[in-house]
Amino acid sequence: MAANGNAADPEGTNFFNAGALAGLDASKVTITKAKTLKPIPAVEDLGMGNTMTDHMMVATFHPARGWSAPEIKPYGPLELDPASSCFQYCPNVFEGMKAYLDPEGHPRLFRPDLNMARMRQSAERVALPPFDPAELLTLIKRLVTLEQRWIPTTPGCALYIRPTLIGTRPALGVSASDHALLYVILSPMGPYFPTGPRAISLLGVRAPARGTGAWKLGLNYAPGFQAQRAAAGRGYQQVLWLEKAGAGLGGMKVTEAGAMNFFVVVRRDDGGVDVVTPPLDGTVLPGVTRASCLALLRAPAPFAPGLPKLHAHERALSVADLVRYAEAGRLLEAFGVGTAVVVVPVGRIGYEEEGAGEGEGGRKVSDIVLPEGVGVARALWEALVEIQEGRREWEGWSVRCA
Ligand SMILES: *Cc1c(COP(=O)(O)O)cnc(C)c1O
Repeated sequence: MAANGNAADPEGTNFFNAGALAGLDASKVTITKAKTLKPIPAVEDLGMGNTMTDHMMVATFHPARGWSAPEIKPYGPLELDPASSCFQYCPNVFEGMKAYLDPEGHPRLFRPDLNMARMRQSAERVALPPFDPAELLTLIKRLVTLEQRWIPTTPGCALYIRPTLIGTRPALGVSASDHALLYVILSPMGPYFPTGPRAISLLGVRAPARGTGAWKLGLNYAPGFQAQRAAAGRGYQQVLWLEKAGAGLGGMKVTEAGAMNFFVVVRRDDGGVDVVTPPLDGTVLPGVTRASCLALLRAPAPFAPGLPKLHAHERALSVADLVRYAEAGRLLEAFGVGTAVVVVPVGRIGYEEEGAGEGEGGRKVSDIVLPEGVGVARALWEALVEIQEGRREWEGWSVRCA
């Protein structure tokens, strides 16, 4: 962690003198309602995060005073000093969650404590001020309850929640931001893939060095946009991020797919299947959906009927492994998982052979085409959506907002 010049505390843990400053306090929230409410677009027109709801939550951190009283107020532009560190050095962190309506019409969140804990860790990673995760969760529940009419009732649709924390120190010195702005905005989302889980295609591309991949920091994403655009130009919807850990395809380690964690299903000789996802090695984002899939796959009683015997593993996976499994007819499924998509199957994975056809005509891309599969992705998607929408109880994962 970056030192901040406090000799007695080189790690910076006590830099924000938490005891002397006001903590984030949900009981101090003020609520100002919008005078006119926006019309809610039809579900078909929602897309992903294009429409924001009527209200937002905002709180600021000042180095001498601590956290301000939080405000829930009409959605609108922020006014920021152009020198704010968020625009220069990117001390920006965010979270992605969703609110769902249960059969009784109550808004629910899915394992929100995990998002809150991860956001605290992300803030710490870029030396932003700490906050009480329980207080932020209370504020999110208040905001979601106020915006309940925005939660789509169509199955597979939900209200996306984007908590954001940015550094607002108004100075150009290259150092940690001791001012911050915390806000939460909401956006109704249509089904990510309009007719339920449908196969997407991936192009394997070497990831920009992601020494901070395990944290949800804004700075992790922009360096991937160029590769994402290039992949789209070649007919692939997402990028399969690879880390070079050795020579050849065997040295190309799979990390994630787009902003999703990645899983494959591989046939075993005993009639069961191995379900493999790369381990949390510091490059891979510790997804809530990833952890939830692993928990379901490892549940002592099968979480869904009709599946082969499941053996879940967190272990390294190279492009050579994928090719080898595919050539042996063992690669049964590949899928991405994350809050936005929940679970989405992969239909095709393109990869470049090292040195193959390089030069004038561009490089040669080979494709692994995935078969129909044995229903693991589909079963995970169904189980997770049922749990998220409060139609199935699982270990208290789904919590009511009020
Ligand atoms: C957010 C995110 C995920 C998915 O995490 P969830 O908690 O499951 O939503 C996976 N990879 C990256 C890079 C992400 O930003």
